[in-house]
Amino acid sequence: MTDAAVADRSGWVALAGTYKNFPALAGASKADWLVIGGGFTGLAAARRLAELHPNHRIVLIDRKRLGQGASGRNSGFAVSREMPGPSELEKPAGRAAYLAQAAIHQAAGAEVKRLIDELRIDCDYDPNGYIFAVHERDKFKALEERVNAINDLGGEAKLLDAAALRSRLGIAFYNHGLWIGGGNALLQPARFAKGLIDALPATVECYENTEAVKITHEPGGGATVSLRDGHIRAARVIIGLNAFMPRLGVKRGRVFPISLTASLTRPLTPAEEEAIGHAGPWGGLCPIEGGATVRLTNDRRILMRNTAEYEPDGISQAMLAKRRAWHEMGLRHRFPFLAKDAIEFTWSGHMCASRNWSFVFEELSHGVFAAGCYNGAGLARGTLLGRLIAEHASGETSPLIENALAREKPSWVPTGPLFTLIAKIRLAHELQAAKSEH
Ligand SMILES: Cc1cc2nc3c(=O)[nH]c(=O)nc-3n(C[C@H](O)[C@H](O)[C@H](O)COP(=O)(O)OP(=O)(O)OC[C@H]3O[C@@H](n4cnc5c(N)ncnc54)[C@H](O)[C@@H]3O)c2cc1C
Repeated sequence: MTDAAVADRSGWVALAGTYKNFPALAGASKADWLVIGGGFTGLAAARRLAELHPNHRIVLIDRKRLGQGASGRNSGFAVSREMPGPSELEKPAGRAAYLAQAAIHQAAGAEVKRLIDELRIDCDYDPNGYIFAVHERDKFKALEERVNAINDLGGEAKLLDAAALRSRLGIAFYNHGLWIGGGNALLQPARFAKGLIDALPATVECYENTEAVKITHEPGGGATVSLRDGHIRAARVIIGLNAFMPRLGVKRGRVFPISLTASLTRPLTPAEEEAIGHAGPWGGLCPIEGGATVRLTNDRRILMRNTAEYEPDGISQAMLAKRRAWHEMGLRHRFPFLAKDAIEFTWSGHMCASRNWSFVFEELSHGVFAAGCYNGAGLARGTLLGRLIAEHASGETSPLIENALAREKPSWVPTGPLFTLIAKIRLAHELQAAKSEH
């Protein structure tokens, strides 16, 4: 492999084992339910629909492979407790908003755990929380207040000074941080997604390499979805497209994709294990936008992710080579003992964001529903909201569904070249401001 091109290959997917293959859908067909998108949202929705409607025809389509988009490419943090930000620390209204959202977040973490237990998914699930930490102390303010707020609000958090971080992580890079438990977990995301695919009820008809190219909302309810080679008319449709929603005209001007890239090393050598003091597996996030995500995995590899960019057309192989060099730099800063050629896999993926950090959970037209846009926390949230949107579409209600429906909707963003310019400048600025944390 040369520096000019790097194959886009998720290490998680490559290491997850053999996936079931599903055929493509072509021609004209009809279904009671159509789920578009086979990531965490679509898989959870399809599973729940099959439980609720055992006699209905339920079709799940993905333009590529089920579970191998962002759901098989993310960093594997199952978020159950968010770190409160300054606005949530200062005022009672901020705390009340944090608590309202916390109900969804905690249920999301619990949903992941429930599915792993019930379906016996082997995905290195580690319920011991993770760490937010920085190299430069002034990049992470009000740590004590945050720890107190999390503990007051029913969570579990601890301050970690440089010595505690060094002993826990086995490296000297981080100087200031905190640990948040209380439901936060780490896992191998592609093995979780593959476990969900393997356990789909037999009544879910799955199709891969089946791209929806147009959604025509039908006046009588439901939609006709045009495929590359045919169409499918469904009485009810659930859209689980996340970052790809705007491409199909869904939530355009409300949500937008952000491209992330990550690398995974080969397993550590015995000498490297010695150098890291045989530290146990861990996950570290940066509390500021633009900082790095790092993990020491159960199979003794290091995951490094330190880019977030607005590249709606995706990351080319040549761009990926450059991002891999940035990952190498991030690894050098943290793990100086690691050989230069330690990276085995590098990949990119799209997460979905909104300006006000809100998610999508709604009926778009009669019988057409969408859930998505989890602002980088969709492993757990997609798994929960996929189930909830299937229940909502089936006419069920619950406090969690009411909570999800009551959330503020994603706010307006401009589209076209103006947005491209703003987004590129903003993200480049964030990356620059977080340079010490790469
Ligand atoms: C590098 C990276 C790191 C991340 N880290 C984390 C993390 O640690 N924790 C966390 O919670 N979240 C993380 N995320 C975000 C997380 O991956 C997403 O929020 C989550 O995957 C959303 O699930 P989803 O099912 O809604 O969407 P996706 O996983 O994006 O699934 C959507 C599916 O739709 C399919 N599709 C797209 N267009 C079409 C079409 N026209 N027709 C049919 N199918 C289509 C795609 O192929 C894809 O399979 C990360 C994302 C990336 C890229």
